[in-house]
Amino acid sequence: MSNTLIRINGLSFKYDEESLNVLNNIHMQVCKGEWVSIVGHNGSGKSTLAKFLNGLLIPTQPNIVTVEDLDSYDEEIVWKVRNKVGMVFQNPDNQMVATTVRDDVAFGLENIGIKREEMLNRIDWAIQKVKMENYLEHEPHRLSGGQKQRVAIAGIIAMRPSVLILDEATSMLDPMGRKEVLDTVWKLNKEEGMTVINITHDLEETVLSDKIIVMNKGEISTYGSPKEVFAQGEKLVEAGLDLPFSLQIQQLIKEKGYNIPTACLTKKELV
Ligand code: ADP
Repeated sequence: MSNTLIRINGLSFKYDEESLNVLNNIHMQVCKGEWVSIVGHNGSGKSTLAKFLNGLLIPTQPNIVTVEDLDSYDEEIVWKVRNKVGMVFQNPDNQMVATTVRDDVAFGLENIGIKREEMLNRIDWAIQKVKMENYLEHEPHRLSGGQKQRVAIAGIIAMRPSVLILDEATSMLDPMGRKEVLDTVWKLNKEEGMTVINITHDLEETVLSDKIIVMNKGEISTYGSPKEVFAQGEKLVEAGLDLPFSLQIQQLIKEKGYNIPTACLTKKELV
């Protein structure tokens, strides 16, 4: 069985006939268990691409977007694609739908008619994975932003998707909330083997990934491991992105000729 979970094969798209392509000949693959970051400036096409990944937008030809070999072109099976792709969005407040954390996590499961015992098991499992066991009876709107996003993640993973997509899911959070969410997703990826796609405009978050895809004006301008992509600073600048702070410091130190071991300054694998 193939290890490839998502295949995009020559995807181009414009919202209306008169405008320019928002996506231009995108080719990419995501393997099972990978953590992939998709980065790019505002308007580079990241969210549009995410909508194709979860079947909200549908390609006009077959074999352009497949998830676990299911072709989202096929109207009969696109709903299966939607079930395989769980998405967490930017605004935590828009994702809370119930009056307690427990009911919020149960919401999606109730909608697909999961039996009660199975539902309780899944809620327990998911809530434990995001470390919100002590908040089951709390009102979601009283939680911090990071906690709300963790509850949103619990609601998604309880549905057992094949891939978890975070679409700018940390961009409205304070540094603590951001860390909470990234730690949670990191554990899901490393311990549960969950495939993760993190869409962000913040390169700091991408050092955790297996692969970074850089988008610029609807095209993939470069991709590779963090080490490979960070070595192409000019592509990142072209795409309107700021290098991670640790790398900026490292570059500055190199330019100034100070003799400080770089391992003290940046993640070991990036040196
Ligand atoms: P990003 O997520 O990288 O910020 P988007 O995919 O949201 O980029 O947007 C890419 C381009 O598509 C932008 O120019 C945006 O204005 C345009 N766009 C996004 N959504 C729509 C829409 N529903 N209708 C028309 N244009 C849109």
